[in-house]
Amino acid sequence: MLPDLEGADATQILTWAFDHFGDRIALSTAFGPSGVVLLHLASEIRPGASAFFLDTGYHYPETLAMVDRTRQRLGSKIRLDVVSPDALALTTDQLGTSPLYAVDPDRCCGQRKVDPTRKVLRGLDAWITALRRDQGPSRAQTPVLEEKLSDGRTLLKVNPLATWTRKEIWRHIVAHDLPYNPLHDQGYASVGCWPCTQPSSEEGDERAGRWAGQDKSECGLHTQI
Ligand code: SF4
Repeated sequence: MLPDLEGADATQILTWAFDHFGDRIALSTAFGPSGVVLLHLASEIRPGASAFFLDTGYHYPETLAMVDRTRQRLGSKIRLDVVSPDALALTTDQLGTSPLYAVDPDRCCGQRKVDPTRKVLRGLDAWITALRRDQGPSRAQTPVLEEKLSDGRTLLKVNPLATWTRKEIWRHIVAHDLPYNPLHDQGYASVGCWPCTQPSSEEGDERAGRWAGQDKSECGLHTQI
C-alpha cells in the first residue's frame, strides 16, 4: 500500500522514495528547469543518487552542454548516465525522402525515447521525474505517486515536483545558482529535440512549443510507461 504523499513537500517525497527503493530507483532528466531543481534536491538528500539523460541524437548543443555543466555544479553528489538509443533499434530514420520525425513523430519518439527508457527501467523498481501539473493540460492531473504496469510488472513513478509552479522552480534555480539551458532566455519555455521544438510563451501551456501545430503534446514517456 502506497503512502499518501499528496500534501508532502518535495524533500519528504524524495526521502521516502530513496529510503524505500535504495539503489533500485533513479531520476530521469532532460535538463529542463524542473529537472535541474530535482537533481539538486536529490543530490542534497541522497548524495550519489543515480540519474539518466536520454541523448536522442537530436538535442540542441545548449542542451548537451547541460550534462557537463550539471556535473560540474553537483559533482559526485549525482551519478549521471547518458543513455543513447541502441543503433540497431533505430529501424529507420527516414520514410521515403522524409525524416521520421516529420512523418511519424510517435515512432521516432518510440525509438529514441520510449524504448531506451524502458530498457533503463528494467533494472529499476521506480523512477523519479520532474513532471509538474502547471506545465500544461497534458500534465494537469499528475499524481505524486503513480503505479503502472510496465513489461509485466509494477513500476512506481515518483513526481516530487507535481505541485510546484513555474515561478517556484525559477526561484529555486536563482537562489541556488543552478545552471539552466540558455535557450530559456531566447523564448523557449520548454526545450526538447530541435526538429520538434519552437519558442513559445503561451500562458498556461509551457509545452506549447513542443510539436507545435501537431496533435501531439507528449513523447510517450509519461503516457506509455
Ligand atoms: S521529439 Fe522529435 S526528434 Fe525527438 S524523438 Fe520525438 S519525434 Fe524524434
